[in-house]
Amino acid sequence: MTKSAEFAVVGAGVVGASIAYGLLKRGHSVILLDGAKTDPRASGANFGLVWVQGKGPGVPEYQTLTRISSDAWQEFARELADAACDTNNSLAYERNGGLAFTFGEDGFQERKNLLNRLHNERGADGDDIEMIDRAEVQRMMPDFELGEEVSGASFCWRDGCVNPLRLHALLLQAVENLGGSIHWNAKVKSVQDKNGSGWQLSTEAGDMWAGHVVVASGLGAKAIAKQLGLDVPVRPQRGQVLVSQRMPKVMGLPASTLRQTADGTFLVGATKEDVDFDEGTSLSAAAKLARNALRITPMLKNMNVVRHWAGLRVMTPDGAPIYDFGENASAAACHSGITLAPIHADLFVNRILGAAHDPKLDAFHPSRFAAPAIAQD
Ligand SMILES: Cc1cc2nc3c(=O)[nH]c(=O)nc-3n(C[C@H](O)[C@H](O)[C@H](O)COP(=O)(O)OP(=O)(O)OC[C@H]3O[C@@H](n4cnc5c(N)ncnc54)[C@H](O)[C@@H]3O)c2cc1C
Repeated sequence: MTKSAEFAVVGAGVVGASIAYGLLKRGHSVILLDGAKTDPRASGANFGLVWVQGKGPGVPEYQTLTRISSDAWQEFARELADAACDTNNSLAYERNGGLAFTFGEDGFQERKNLLNRLHNERGADGDDIEMIDRAEVQRMMPDFELGEEVSGASFCWRDGCVNPLRLHALLLQAVENLGGSIHWNAKVKSVQDKNGSGWQLSTEAGDMWAGHVVVASGLGAKAIAKQLGLDVPVRPQRGQVLVSQRMPKVMGLPASTLRQTADGTFLVGATKEDVDFDEGTSLSAAAKLARNALRITPMLKNMNVVRHWAGLRVMTPDGAPIYDFGENASAAACHSGITLAPIHADLFVNRILGAAHDPKLDAFHPSRFAAPAIAQD
């Protein structure tokens, strides 16, 4: 198995795999290194939304980036299926729009206010989100029984969903098909500069060498990034999700907290908890999630919960991604790695390959978190 390459990507979650895939597609050699069995892995614990609406309060560039990604997803999915030799449409990518339900008049107004704020921050570049009333939601999903409190929803035609486990599997398959070398249980312990000629990575699977190191290690990124002179201030945020038994398809559109998968199960999610690195589940969270789902639809009343999991989001201080670029080293971290997969495979990769400077990623440099300088007399 190859132990040296032009690029070493540290972290084989969906972010690292997307970057490795993008590099290989452009003809570069890549080793993709993953960590310990016990590491948190958001890529195996998420909701599978390719989502635009509601993202980026205070960071208009993030609103734009998710839109670029959403618009690129169809072609990305097609190319990825080809590269991974997947002929079964197993990604189950859909872009029929998505909903965020509102409860009562106040909830409707609150959502409207948030979307107006986002619209104003972004500046008018076309409306892809609208508030729709309860009757319109019902018209869009005639077989879906709405809870009494549902007053309507916001609807964004750019929203969609995908099978996130298949996305990760296909990315890894594509990496292998394109000649990349994946090293599991190869946690990177330290990185040393080889006098400007590249990096030596000391890993649990032995030493490896690369001209450029990309840190995409999720919640494990901080320490490695620091050794490369990069800054990735991420923290864990726990999300718990419930999965129901299967039932015939009644919910035609995904919503931010409830969606019915292609195989008929309902996903109910997700909590937002600051509990450090605790990946445990709790009954109180399950009860809260179930209550919220029943407000949306009484159809779930008699359904069995067949799974309940918790995952740790890779959370940044302002919720927007972090992209840092140094001398022969770079880093990417975000809490929307499914939505942003095309950005990582294309825009991010183009940037580290030194293609013509594209300013779209500039706003995501970690220097935005630096404390403002205090004026001196
Ligand atoms: C409940 C929940 C719901 C979510 N829903 C959505 C959603 O609907 N849509 C969306 O876009 N996103 C969603 N996300 C976020 C998405 O899952 C993450 O953004 C994405 O998975 C992050 O991928 P990653 O590769 O950065 O991190 P991870 O998947 O955590 O992978 C990091 C990898 O780095 C490896 N690693 C760590 N340290 C080292 C080291 N020193 N050496 C080598 N390897 C190392 C680890 O072993 C691990 O495999 C959700 C997340 C959660 C938890």
